[in-house]
Amino acid sequence: MSSTLLHVLVHTPAHARLGSVLSYRHAEPLPAGTLVRVPLAARETLGVVWDAPAPNSAAPTEPDKLRDVSEVLEGIAPLGASWRALLQFAASYYQRSAGEVALAALPPQLREIDAEQLQRRLKRHAKAALAQPDAPAPTAAPALSPEQAAALAQIASQSGPFLLFGTTGSGKTEVYLQAVEALLLDDPYAQALVMVPEINLTPQLEARFTARFSGRFGAQSVVSMHSGMTPAQRLQSWLAAHHGQARIVLGTRMAVFASLPHLRLIVVDEEHDPSYKSGEGARYSARDLAVYRGKLENAKVVLGSATPSLESWYLSRPAAEGGRYQRLAMPSRIGAKAGDAPHTGLPTVRRVDMNHQPRGVVFSEPLLNAIKERIARGEQSLIFMNRRGYAPVLHCSACGWKSQCKHCSACRVFHKVDRTLRCHHCGFTDRVPRHCPDCGNVDILPMGRGTEQLEEHLGELLVDVKRPDGGAVRIARIDADSTRLKGSLEEQLAAVHAGDVDVLVGTQMIAKGHDFRRITLVAAINPDGALFSSDFRAAERLFALLMQAAGRAGRDTSLGTPSDVWVQTYEPGHHLYVSLRAHDYPAFADTQLRERESAGMPPFTAQALVRAEARTQEAARALLDAAREVALTDMPQWPGWAPVLERVTVYPAIPSAIQRVANVERAQMLVESDSRAALQQFLSAWGDVLAQCRERPECKGVIRWAVDVDPLGI
Ligand code: ADP
Ligand code: ZN
Ligand code: ZN
Repeated sequence: MSSTLLHVLVHTPAHARLGSVLSYRHAEPLPAGTLVRVPLAARETLGVVWDAPAPNSAAPTEPDKLRDVSEVLEGIAPLGASWRALLQFAASYYQRSAGEVALAALPPQLREIDAEQLQRRLKRHAKAALAQPDAPAPTAAPALSPEQAAALAQIASQSGPFLLFGTTGSGKTEVYLQAVEALLLDDPYAQALVMVPEINLTPQLEARFTARFSGRFGAQSVVSMHSGMTPAQRLQSWLAAHHGQARIVLGTRMAVFASLPHLRLIVVDEEHDPSYKSGEGARYSARDLAVYRGKLENAKVVLGSATPSLESWYLSRPAAEGGRYQRLAMPSRIGAKAGDAPHTGLPTVRRVDMNHQPRGVVFSEPLLNAIKERIARGEQSLIFMNRRGYAPVLHCSACGWKSQCKHCSACRVFHKVDRTLRCHHCGFTDRVPRHCPDCGNVDILPMGRGTEQLEEHLGELLVDVKRPDGGAVRIARIDADSTRLKGSLEEQLAAVHAGDVDVLVGTQMIAKGHDFRRITLVAAINPDGALFSSDFRAAERLFALLMQAAGRAGRDTSLGTPSDVWVQTYEPGHHLYVSLRAHDYPAFADTQLRERESAGMPPFTAQALVRAEARTQEAARALLDAAREVALTDMPQWPGWAPVLERVTVYPAIPSAIQRVANVERAQMLVESDSRAALQQFLSAWGDVLAQCRERPECKGVIRWAVDVDPLGI
């Protein structure tokens, strides 16, 4: 039988450095991008017919040892060249194998079902497409504000990428909607990808897009992609996008890899949000890949935020100074009138200087009074604190015992509801001991506080306060603990919307995106930690969070009462709070950028972090030290490599911030360069060095290592 040699990309279980393009035989040639099932060792796996083996792949198998392709997934069009190029780029930029990245980017169900099951799915899918329900009448678009109109005109006439820098409530979403609309009307095949940071936010966005478009472009024209969907739903959305029925894909970071053969526009909403960066596997940034993908596929890219990442802000400086993004500013809130002061409609930021408050007070008197006033008026308050549980540590005052986790180098958090100590790193949980395990003292005390305690404490402070209807104050808490059960977040949010809650306490989870119309007070109880954090991005994140929170307040101008954002701080003069008070993101960003530049930090340098995990700290460090040694002494000797090495700094390995998690020791090492290209070049060769060092006897206890390119937390 005549047969053709095929290159097939698979996810080889071995470490990433192994080539993932393998050779197979098939009766006839298949176009690149075709999905196939192939034998791999003793099992069968999903693969993608690939163009040519990657240069560093394993030596070709001898022809007579080649195995046959098991089956071809008929009915699914081959993945396009630009999709393949995107995956290849993502893999090489983030130092992973193309097989791993590509297979992870496909809907999980494709990996599990065989050709026959697939045919059934495709039939069902086709039937569903025919039997479209009557779509609702489209909602009309409002008349644009002058700022919205100007932004849209620029998006239409220029090539971007764009940074839509718009205050909360300036109507960014309306700009996205109308940019998408213009595109769909202009080109009957065009597709748009709209990304949001959180699954929680997709239903809201989906409702807005569906209301606007499904009546005109078909019920299937809008699909979602996020991890909260069932595998069957994900496959269905993926197929609709891949085969062009879906004109608009709404999704979280994973959607950046959706196959969209007619992609013309990518929107990244809240582009500064850290959740665009993946925390496992290939640690890709969906925002950065969106920009790359736009260039690759000639699609326009719009990044939107009220508090852009400093990276994007810097990239959108004037072109004359080297900027590459076009900045589109929308400084006014919708509803502001001509001649209004710049921050009309935005809440007043009030700082409470905690240096002048009695020691140990949690709610300063002015803040407490302001909360009481809101309650009296039937308005809502939102109090946030970035730590869940009752207290981060339980300790014994007699002997100094602490609620240390026995598997991690961290303390277990005291949760009062069920009287447990829970490790937030490994999950290890048991009941609070009746007395100190070390000395028997019965007086073990909580140290510090979290949202649970805040809720309790506030209940005590407000016990005598009455609502306008004479009822008792209703306090609710929303955090990862209160929303563990599926659907509970939605339920709790609905209660807030319905006005059943007077004061909402929670973590940053409540500050994002939710449109709470009756909230007129937002307070951050103790946000100073971020100002002095060893993480240089902490201040940037805090500023974004407080601006977001401020954006939550005062959405409903019909209430007629001014909204306030309260910050309790020991550093009232800190530039972060000063800029916040003036709602002046550019001032904040400029100060931060100057600091970053003088300290040689991103975006002025490119970074990568190597993380190693091992049975012992020595083994983890041994791997990193060995690889560093090669980088410092051997690699500069390699022909042509000295100039690259000169531009790259490999810092000594250090234990990670939380050194041990679930009995695994962790160490890390920072690699830095003033040139992204040099860093990339270095990493591409150094990955093999790490793999070789792993084989040394002193690295025996190493479990895994990974390179995180453009890490968010160091
Ligand atoms: P952002 O995403 O910038 O925070 P949104 O797009 O959510 O702002 O808009 C804020 C509010 O203003 C929404 O309720 C939206 O429906 C409304 N809105 C947006 N654009 C207009 C407009 N041109 N005219 C009237 N209302 C608008
Ligand atoms: Zn003790
Ligand atoms: Zn633990």
